[in-house]
Amino acid sequence: MTPIPTHRKRVLSGMRSTGRLHLGNYVGALQNWVGMQDEYECFFFVADWHALTTDYADTSQIKENSVEVLLDWLAAGLDPERCTMFIQSHVPQHAELHVIFSMITPLGWLERVPTYKEQRENITEKDLGTYGFLGYPVLQAADILIYKGDFVPVGEDQVPHVELTREIARRFNQFYSGRRSPVFPEPQPLLTPSPKLPGTDGRKMSKSYGNTIMLTDPEPVVRQKLKTMVTDPARVRRSDPGNPDVCPVGDLHKIFSTKETMAKVYEGCRSAGIGCIECKGWAADALVKILIPMQERRKKYEENPRLAWDILEAGSARAGQVAGATMEEVRAAMGMSLGYEAPGKE
Ligand code: SF4
Repeated sequence: MTPIPTHRKRVLSGMRSTGRLHLGNYVGALQNWVGMQDEYECFFFVADWHALTTDYADTSQIKENSVEVLLDWLAAGLDPERCTMFIQSHVPQHAELHVIFSMITPLGWLERVPTYKEQRENITEKDLGTYGFLGYPVLQAADILIYKGDFVPVGEDQVPHVELTREIARRFNQFYSGRRSPVFPEPQPLLTPSPKLPGTDGRKMSKSYGNTIMLTDPEPVVRQKLKTMVTDPARVRRSDPGNPDVCPVGDLHKIFSTKETMAKVYEGCRSAGIGCIECKGWAADALVKILIPMQERRKKYEENPRLAWDILEAGSARAGQVAGATMEEVRAAMGMSLGYEAPGKE
C-alpha cells in the first residue's frame, strides 16, 4: 500500500504491547485516537521495543500481546482505512534513528526526565538499571521524528517527553542541517482530556493493581466487578447519605452515564434515596452499552486473527516507506548516504 498524500497534520502515538486493554487505556488514550482519525493523518504503533524496557527477561508473550492490543484498537473503532497501525519493531528505521539520537543526546537530559526517577523508585520488582530504560525517551523521540510528526497526543505527565523530543530535533538540526532546511520539525504536544478513571478498589485503574475492567470483559463479569467496587466510605448503612464526588462509582458515572442518570445519582445518593447496589447497576448499564459494540467488532478479528495480522503488516509497510524516506534525508544530512560517492567529492 502506498502512502496516501494528505495535507492533514500528522499525529504519532503508541501503546506498549502489554496485552488486552482496560477501560483506563480507553478513556486515557484510545477514545481520543478514535476521534482523531479524520482530522489528522494518524500513525499508531504497538510499541513492542518499549515493552522490552521493563519486560526484557521474558519475551514469550510479546507477539501475542501486540496482536491483543491491535484487536482492542480495532474493537474501539480505529479503522485501517483511516489511520496507519503498525508494530514498532517491524519498522527497523526506528532503531537506526535511535542509535543516531543516542549519540547526540546528553546524559543529563535523560536523567532529569521526571518519569525516569519516579519509575526507578516505584518499580522495585524489576531491575531497571539498564541502558535501554534510561534511553527510552530517545527511542520515543525517534518514533515521533521518523514520521516528522506535528502532534503527539499526551496527558500532562508526558509533556516533558515531547519537550525532550523537541530538544533532540533541534540539536540534530543544529549539527547536521547546515544551510539546508531543518530535517526535523519540532512536534507539539496535543493535550488530550484524560479524566480520572478509578479501578474497582478506588485507586487509578492499572493492571498492576489488579483493579481493572477489561474492554473484553463479558457483561456478567462487568456487573460482578462493579458489585465489589468500593464506594463513599460514609455510606455504611443504606440509610446513610453519601456523596458521588468522593465515590469511585460516582467517577464512573461522570464519564459514562447520561445527564439524566447523573441527576438521579446525585439526588438519590445525597438523600439516601437509592442504595449503592442500584447505583452500581446503573453504572454497569452505561459501561455495558459501550463495551458490547466493541466486543462485537472484536469478534470478527478474533475469529480470523490473520485479518488483524494483515492490517499490521500493511500498516508496517506503509509506515516503513515514510520512515525510509526520512532516514535517507538523515543520512544525507550527516554525509553518510548509502550511495557511492567519488573520493574527494564535497
Ligand atoms: S449511591 Fe452511588 S455514588 Fe453514592 S456512594 Fe453509593 S455507589 Fe457511590
